[in-house]
Amino acid sequence: MLGIMTGVAVLVVLVFAVLYVILDKGEPDAGDSGKRRIHVSGVYSILRKSPRAELAALRPKEDEIKKYLAEASEDASGAPLQSSDRAALLRHWKAQTEMNLRGIEAGDKSGIAFYYYDYPKECPVCGPFIAKGNFVTREEIYNNPQIIPPFHLGCACVLAAHLGSEKTMKETALAGMVPFFDGEAPPPLPEWTAVISLSAICGGKN
Ligand SMILES: [Zn+2]
Repeated sequence: MLGIMTGVAVLVVLVFAVLYVILDKGEPDAGDSGKRRIHVSGVYSILRKSPRAELAALRPKEDEIKKYLAEASEDASGAPLQSSDRAALLRHWKAQTEMNLRGIEAGDKSGIAFYYYDYPKECPVCGPFIAKGNFVTREEIYNNPQIIPPFHLGCACVLAAHLGSEKTMKETALAGMVPFFDGEAPPPLPEWTAVISLSAICGGKN
């Protein structure tokens, strides 16, 4: 008798569990509950959503940048900013943002899981924050779109796709590439207002 009652109780629990799952899946997805959706559905492909809109929401608007630059008289190294520098810095910021986003969007099409920070040109502001070769996972980018460069005006830091597997990334890690994250939260990043004049680092317009 006890066995039957236990069996019935287990059955009831199972029915409720199935109902719960069905009802839960029937709910429309809330726009800001990406992490929850991953958790519930276990669908990894949700990570492959472009971080474009989330990044834009975190970054200063063009008007805000223009206003800031109009009032800035010199860059972080004390070099005076010309009006041509200001225009170049805004163009560079937009171009670098677009390039990094497109790199991630292209990486999603080919299933890139790892990205690493690279410096095609030296970035004196980012240097103390991010080492060349520090790598992040696509999931970390999904959860923290603020880790996508550029980090500040005149930033030369870029995210590059790692074309190998997790295994090759770990092997590469032994050769000097290390994870950027040390836990769940991202390490500190430079302030966007840390201006580096492009003419100062490139010797000309960029
Ligand atoms: Zn930088």
